[in-house]
Amino acid sequence: MNQETENQRKLLSVVVSVYNEEQALKAFYQKAKAVLEGLSWDYELIFVNDGSVDGSEGILEEFARNDKQVKIISFSRNFGHEAAMIAGMDYSQGDGVVCMDADLQHPPECLEEITAAFEAGDQVINMVRTRNQDAGMVKNITSRGFYWLINTISDVHFEPNASDFFAVDRKVAQVMKNSYREKVRFLRGYVQNVGFRKKNLYYEARPRVAGHSKYSIRKLMAFSVNTILCFSNMPLKLGIYAGMFSALLGLAVMIYTLFTREGAPSGYATIVVLICFMFAMLFVIVGIIGEYIAILFTELKDRPVYIVAETINIPEENRGKSSEKA
Ligand code: UDP
Ligand code: MG
Repeated sequence: MNQETENQRKLLSVVVSVYNEEQALKAFYQKAKAVLEGLSWDYELIFVNDGSVDGSEGILEEFARNDKQVKIISFSRNFGHEAAMIAGMDYSQGDGVVCMDADLQHPPECLEEITAAFEAGDQVINMVRTRNQDAGMVKNITSRGFYWLINTISDVHFEPNASDFFAVDRKVAQVMKNSYREKVRFLRGYVQNVGFRKKNLYYEARPRVAGHSKYSIRKLMAFSVNTILCFSNMPLKLGIYAGMFSALLGLAVMIYTLFTREGAPSGYATIVVLICFMFAMLFVIVGIIGEYIAILFTELKDRPVYIVAETINIPEENRGKSSEKA
């Protein structure tokens, strides 16, 4: 290959978040490498080690020693999948950046279609799951419920079944890096709502090659609540609706009392039920406001989204200025 064609080749950055994936990493690396070598693009394979406590770090270091296209960003502790993806994007150099899981649920074969879409001028490529072999019925139903809710109450549109397998071009990656530095984040949501030329590609999610899902039900719940609060102010308005509802209820009870002229002592049950109901409503609303305040507080404290302990095969100048204070 002569110098000129080499310069013309575009660079694809593949960002892979890794948290305790020692059993899956080798299979992933082999598969990804085989696909990447066959592409008409150059590539860099960025593994973000999100504070793994198993043998993942050693395995990654070994990859990086033998393969300069493998780059490693190691966090000082576990910061979560979202932080890992954003760090990968911050450090990436490619004309296109792909985020994917290390467990082969996101098939590396799709990279070929992704580069083709970039070449056709698409800038945001959503990989939409057609079938998730690992997800049970409960996960499918709750996921559908979540997307219905968020699409109903927020003014942005979320693609149901869009996974955290997506690709963006350099321009969009730069927008993510410079303008979406929120602490409580939902990267997938931003990517779908920045505009630019979008394309959906479809893939069938495979079973995990090894290991188990790192998202517990509790983590998923917390994540869903945060996402709803970050993308919608609707829950804050519940207080107004609840206030109007109580006013109407009060009016109805008043009219009823006036017309039936019931003696005061017989209304005990009504009073107790009404008080419980009203207090319940009040506490829920106070709780919702509390959640928003918690988010405001987190943003205000401005702590870093991730802290990098070490990088391998990444030149100093490639570090994003704001990468650590992100
Ligand atoms: N992951 C991470 N940090 C975490 C949890 C997960 O970097 O705190 C990585 C994990 O190693 C995997 C990807 O994020 O590559 C997605 O996680 P997982 O496969 O467990 O989620 P699922 O596919 O079941 O939704
Ligand atoms: Mg997975």
